[in-house]
Amino acid sequence: MTEEHWRTHRLELADQTLREWDATVLDAGPDGIVLDRSAFYPGGGGQPPDQGVLLWGGVETNIVGARKGDDLYLIPAESDPLPPAGTKVRGAVKDERRTALMRTHSGLHVLCGVVFRDYGSLVTGGNMEPGLARMDFDLPELPEGFRDAVQAACNAEVAADRRIDIRVLPRDEAFELPDIIRTATNLVPPDVTQVRIVDIVGLDQQADGGTHVASTRQIGRIEVVKIENKGRGFRRLRIKITD
Ligand SMILES: [Zn+2]
Repeated sequence: MTEEHWRTHRLELADQTLREWDATVLDAGPDGIVLDRSAFYPGGGGQPPDQGVLLWGGVETNIVGARKGDDLYLIPAESDPLPPAGTKVRGAVKDERRTALMRTHSGLHVLCGVVFRDYGSLVTGGNMEPGLARMDFDLPELPEGFRDAVQAACNAEVAADRRIDIRVLPRDEAFELPDIIRTATNLVPPDVTQVRIVDIVGLDQQADGGTHVASTRQIGRIEVVKIENKGRGFRRLRIKITD
């Protein structure tokens, strides 16, 4: 079963600025809480799940994560009450954490676009926390001044304030985009018919389900804080996002 079969309508995929919404509980049990509509990013593509709260009749159920199974299950804080199926709830995503993750995720895509454009190097993995991230590249040689050059190029892309567009394309059309083919990892499962594309216009396009800011200037400053050599051409770049 893929995410396309989940009963939850994923509000954050279309509106990444949404932080509060009304929903109805479809299921609540040991696996977690299933809502009919949710803006909680469930995690994936290196971006951790959102946290937040469900409010119902004066009761607060804190949400500490998500589990992706046959449905999208929100994980309540231990010992918080479970809203029974049928309950109307008000959902809210923790804004500070989510906004930091959006800036960080978009920052990683800028890094990915810059390193491919300037060095022809492909990404092999990545992960992020709010404000901090790492991305792994297949990069046998480190040119002189690499760190400073990459950092300057990333911040030039931030200053250029490129638009970050989201669109959903039928699978065949998505795989005709040259940028999508080059992302060696993050292979889209074969039964996925619609592919969501995150397009930093003029720099980088990726098949991606994550949440992003609307333009590169909203990322803030990108610092390349460390480059680790993991052997056999495998380099790990660590970045930090600051104001
Ligand atoms: Zn991504």
